Amino acid sequence: MPYDLIVIGSGPGGYVCAIRAAQLGMKTAVVEKRATFGGTCLNIGCIPSKAMLNASELYEEAGHKFAQMGIKVGTPAVDLAAMLKYKQDAVDGNVKGVDYLFKKNKIETFHGAGRLVGPGKVEVKNADGKAQVLETKNVVIATGSDAARLNGIDFDEKRIVSSTGALDLPAVPKKLLIVGAGIIGLELGSVWRRLGAEVTIVEFLDHILPGIDSEVGKQFQRILQKQGIAVRLSSKVTGVDSSGATLKVKVESAAGGAAETLDADIVLVAIGRVPYSEGLGLEALGVKKDNRGRILVDPHYCSNVEGIYAIGDVIAGPMLAHKAEEEGVAVAEVLAGQAGHVNYDVIPNVVYTYPEIASVGKTEEELKAAGIAYNVGKFPFTANARARVNLTTEGFVKILADARTVRVLGVHILGPDAGNMIGEAAVAMEFGASSEDIARTCHAHPTLSEAIKESALAVAKRAINF
Ligand SMILES: Cc1cc2nc3c(=O)[nH]c(=O)nc-3n(C[C@H](O)[C@H](O)[C@H](O)COP(=O)(O)OP(=O)(O)OC[C@H]3O[C@@H](n4cnc5c(N)ncnc54)[C@H](O)[C@@H]3O)c2cc1C
Repeated sequence: MPYDLIVIGSGPGGYVCAIRAAQLGMKTAVVEKRATFGGTCLNIGCIPSKAMLNASELYEEAGHKFAQMGIKVGTPAVDLAAMLKYKQDAVDGNVKGVDYLFKKNKIETFHGAGRLVGPGKVEVKNADGKAQVLETKNVVIATGSDAARLNGIDFDEKRIVSSTGALDLPAVPKKLLIVGAGIIGLELGSVWRRLGAEVTIVEFLDHILPGIDSEVGKQFQRILQKQGIAVRLSSKVTGVDSSGATLKVKVESAAGGAAETLDADIVLVAIGRVPYSEGLGLEALGVKKDNRGRILVDPHYCSNVEGIYAIGDVIAGPMLAHKAEEEGVAVAEVLAGQAGHVNYDVIPNVVYTYPEIASVGKTEEELKAAGIAYNVGKFPFTANARARVNLTTEGFVKILADARTVRVLGVHILGPDAGNMIGEAAVAMEFGASSEDIARTCHAHPTLSEAIKESALAVAKRAINF
């Protein structure tokens, strides 16, 4: 009996898709080439990076804030081996959780590289080269993405590393040079700076965090520099000489010109990610990709070939775990004849630095470019009672509301716990809320979320506490 669905890849897109399909009664299998389930996110992405961010943030707090609050702990010290074990335990717990969920939902699993070898036929080749062919009515490709490489600079994952190597350094580097001021570069730069590294970030563009509201980005860059991270904008890394004990990194202006050489113990290349769409047999079946290697799909996640679907990082859109998950649910529901759908206007984006940055909806730049008239309501955390109590007053909440209807078009938070707070904004936007709806919703006191209410009040120029 063929499967109703085979999912290739068990990251947040693939495993969630398989579970939803099984819930809907489909006979489902998952093929995963990695030894453990959970994909980039659980094994080498979201989860280990958040473990290291959490541990390093607490270490910094213990060293800097505890005394101010009357807690004496002496001078805290880092036991890096124990911290890496804590990180690995967090990963192991989460990947085991996916294994459990597959069993609970009676999803069959196959370890090995999956490849389409004909319509409805998926070959699974395991590490010893043994292959078997599975038959299925439909395939969902959820093979995710890989770290992008910089021309002429190869990863050895020891001294020249991708995020994977940077999450497993056996010692705190003296000097860490990061290529790329995107989310991954800033998060991992924060981790190692807190643990004692001297961190320099080299960014090709004239601003950090491409795609983030520029007011938030500028203020955060000042905070980063205050924390001790050096940021070199409009600059490019053109080569790394690894012949000596110290890496010699060639840096020049983005526009070209004389190169300067910077020393580093570790170079992290974090210039983005590329879809993992090679070796899947797509060409032989005529499955179309775009010029960046992403599988082209219609609004129902179907490729140009019937029965072959794709979701997550391997298709267009933000490379985020929760985006992949939503698509996994949507495609399973479409396959079951339901109306699966993802609202791409309401996908939150979080940078888990300190303070955090979280946003949902449009930026000011996007609204201006689209010619949409809007009003801004802003409220600083310096005026929020709970932030003052917690000694975490950096940043602000900004709500962008349609000038005529006051419907919320975008919410941007730079501040403590922004990643948790953005959920409120996402729910409000999903329900088509106006800033007035948020302003008239009772928020518990004293909480950081009162800053969201106050910024909604500020849209109508009637904030109470500022
Ligand atoms: C350091 C880092 C931190 C991140 N932090 C966050 C975060 O905090 N929040 C967030 O939302 N996103 C984060 N991301 C991004 C997030 O990890 C990805 O967007 C997400 O994992 C994409 O999910 P996916 O299911 O599309 O693919 P993946 O998670 O990449 O999973 C794809 C799976 O497919 C498998 N596979 C590939 N080819 C084959 C094949 N031929 N046969 C069988 N299996 C195959 C792979 O082994 C992998 O397990 C982070 C990424 C990195 C690198």
